[in-house]
Amino acid sequence: MNSSVRVRFAPSPTGPLHIGGLRTALFNYLFAKQSNGTFVLRIEDTDKKRYVNGAEKYIEEALEWVGIKQEEGPYRQSERKSLYKNHIQSLIESGLAYYAFDDAETLDGHRKSHEAKGKTFIYNWHNRLKLENSLSLNKEEVEKKLIANEKYVVRFKSFENKTIVCRDVIRGELSVESRLLDDKILYKSDGMPTYHFANVVDDHLMNISHVIRGEEWLPSLPLHCMLYDAFGWERPKFAHLPLILNPKGKGKLSKRDGDKLGVPVFPLQWSGEKGDLLGFKEEGYLPEALTNFLALLGWNPGTEKEIFSMDDLVENFDINKVNSSGAKFDVEKLKWFNHKYLQLEKNEKIADHLICSYQELKTIKKELVISAVKLTKERANTLNELWSLCSYLFIAPVNYNEKTLKKVSSAATIETLNELSKKIEVINTFKENEISKFIKSWINESGKGFGNVMQPARLALVGELKGVDLYVIFEFLGKEESLSRLNSLSEEIKNLL
Ligand code: GLU
Repeated sequence: MNSSVRVRFAPSPTGPLHIGGLRTALFNYLFAKQSNGTFVLRIEDTDKKRYVNGAEKYIEEALEWVGIKQEEGPYRQSERKSLYKNHIQSLIESGLAYYAFDDAETLDGHRKSHEAKGKTFIYNWHNRLKLENSLSLNKEEVEKKLIANEKYVVRFKSFENKTIVCRDVIRGELSVESRLLDDKILYKSDGMPTYHFANVVDDHLMNISHVIRGEEWLPSLPLHCMLYDAFGWERPKFAHLPLILNPKGKGKLSKRDGDKLGVPVFPLQWSGEKGDLLGFKEEGYLPEALTNFLALLGWNPGTEKEIFSMDDLVENFDINKVNSSGAKFDVEKLKWFNHKYLQLEKNEKIADHLICSYQELKTIKKELVISAVKLTKERANTLNELWSLCSYLFIAPVNYNEKTLKKVSSAATIETLNELSKKIEVINTFKENEISKFIKSWINESGKGFGNVMQPARLALVGELKGVDLYVIFEFLGKEESLSRLNSLSEEIKNLL
């Protein structure tokens, strides 16, 4: 066991946490837990323009929902400004970073004139002396600008001719020629550090041993490595997790892809400016199923085993067995996991979930909800599906299936329903077996034909030709409710005739 393992999950509070972010948190968590290490939560909120109210709370709630608990944090970068200030100062003093006073229009002009020539404007060693910064201006001019509070950014003085070699646990060695890199902004004109700077300073100050994050940050790795080197700090180990791709394997899984597939891409509901977005929770997924599914997006356990509890994941997860190529999001697999977990879950707990989510169940005895769960869960993939498979056991049909209603609408059906009601009324022990015996013998004697009785009866009780065994439904509803539903259908048909 290595007790010096310290990892962090470092989301930016710019909106709801995407499941890609949740997977990053999960992999960090599993890695920390299995090494007896520490999982730190750090909120990277230095970009004021992208800050969204409520996002931090959402992140914490989402982590809690899937059972990820941080040992440290949340730290907020906005509360650590003086640390970044001290560090940028030391980098400027050592000549590895510099003030740049170029205004936005001038830079834009350069960009446009380069574009017109089919080139890209890069601010770095090849032109920095021709631009307006503390390397091109003399000391007095720089002092004057600073005293006059002129706007500036601080840029990293990227090396002119160096091969930057970085190592990634998942991808091996990567190298980049520094002369191709631009002098990245480390400090913005609003007095806040950029992501790159705050991120590296914090990872160092927080003694982070392993940086595990999404592949989208891989292009930033050379800059981060250069910053560690510039400060003379030991680099942490890096692991960039593969992207979560849409089912076609073309591009990152987006909210639009989720909409097309009929699944969310966020763990919990998000109420934003554009309205409410449902999360996996509201769509009836169990957190254990989502976690299991996410763990296998990119990680290959190398065995046939697919069902992993959080404890199993902690035990078996292996960062060295994470693939470098993108992981396709397979909705059917997610549903399969959720179905499995629903079957494994205690009926009582599922009943609690349903009672919590559906107003209609608030006044119903829990025992009844548990029985309904027992009867229907085998066919459900999600809690919402489960509800639609059993709701008729609690709510009488309001609308009948149109086609079936049309088919059975006749005077003969009204008569059948009335006769059936009379039979039912005299059954003493209102249990499935008794009901079945009674009705079957009546159908046989009357010569009415099975379908002519059972179809309207099912339509009356369920509202459509679906549901569990009809005699079971009779017993579940009880005599009074069953009679009332049979009567309602016969009234409906009368109105139609
Ligand atoms: N704040 C970054 C994000 O939102 C963190 C990237 C990292 O983990 O270094 O993803």
